[in-house]
Amino acid sequence: MPQSVRYAVYGRACLPDGLHPDWVIGVEDGVIGLSAPAASIQAENWLHGLPDGVLRRCDPEQILAPAFVDIHCHAGGGYMAYENPAAVMRYHRAHGTAAMLQTLYRDIGVDGMLRGIGRIAQAMREEQGILGVHLEGPYLNPALGSMAGFALSPDPAVYNRLLQHGVVRMCTFAPELEGAEALCRALASRGIVPAIGHSAAGRRFVRRAVEAGARVVTHVFNASGHSEGNVPRGTRPFGFDEACLLEDALWYEFICDSGGLHVRHDGIRLLEKTVGLHRMVAITDCCGEWQGEDVNFRNGELMGSCMCMQHVARNLLHMGYSLPQIFRLTSYQPACAIGVQHLVGSLLPGRQANLLLTDPGLEQIELL
Ligand SMILES: [Zn+2]
Repeated sequence: MPQSVRYAVYGRACLPDGLHPDWVIGVEDGVIGLSAPAASIQAENWLHGLPDGVLRRCDPEQILAPAFVDIHCHAGGGYMAYENPAAVMRYHRAHGTAAMLQTLYRDIGVDGMLRGIGRIAQAMREEQGILGVHLEGPYLNPALGSMAGFALSPDPAVYNRLLQHGVVRMCTFAPELEGAEALCRALASRGIVPAIGHSAAGRRFVRRAVEAGARVVTHVFNASGHSEGNVPRGTRPFGFDEACLLEDALWYEFICDSGGLHVRHDGIRLLEKTVGLHRMVAITDCCGEWQGEDVNFRNGELMGSCMCMQHVARNLLHMGYSLPQIFRLTSYQPACAIGVQHLVGSLLPGRQANLLLTDPGLEQIELL
């Protein structure tokens, strides 16, 4: 649909509280101006006087939903984000993602991250939808996650260089590293979301990180461990994930692949039961090209997924989640986790008009 004019879409809307038939979304200059039942006075006023051809009536079977938001994505369309960020964005947009953080992992080192940040900063000026950078490292527990093996402690002289571009929106670190608390405070003071993960921290370090501003757990139940040595006989070790589940201020990223390789599906159900669906954030952690398999392997090691958010959403559907729940997990709550819910992630007035049209099985996806 054109971006610079007034138009409306009529169809079955997927809102947080359910599916609403006969709904009207009015758009002006790329922003949602109206979201209301077709029978309401507001909708009538909006539709009144619209020029011919700018009201789109969707098939009543179709679903009108907010486009996906992905806060953890490394690759797409045959490229890593540090190589060709615009191509990554275009690939995921073709599968329904309108906004994303492009993620840089520790395997490329600090210099690779600096080059990647520069490229992504440039792409943000040319390609719509890239919200910024998520640095996944370099300050992670060296024993946890793929491409493990080298340890780096947070050093202000280094991380100030990584953060100086102003495009980093989120940074994942392991709270047990020396200097992690100062890093966490430095991130929070710059308005960057501190995220914790790839960690074996126990209750004390997790608590400290949350007090210092940590707000997101990076792929919970994945690449995490525990640091307890001798525990009383009969008690299983209490690790990073359990310590995180006890917190109240966190958003929980999770990777839903079809085989439960990153997180068992029962792990996702356990997450829902402990923290509630309203704190959960679906991510792709896409690291490779989709060729019929959800997961990505490098040198025999599990390394992220090959999914778009459409695949993730379909896996959630197969697990039994409803469409309104799925779009909270894949659109609204990711936006909340990084504080951009006033811009993207819902069909509310004032948000960017990132309208996604799909079918009840999420097989075909179109961004209007
Ligand atoms: Zn990742």
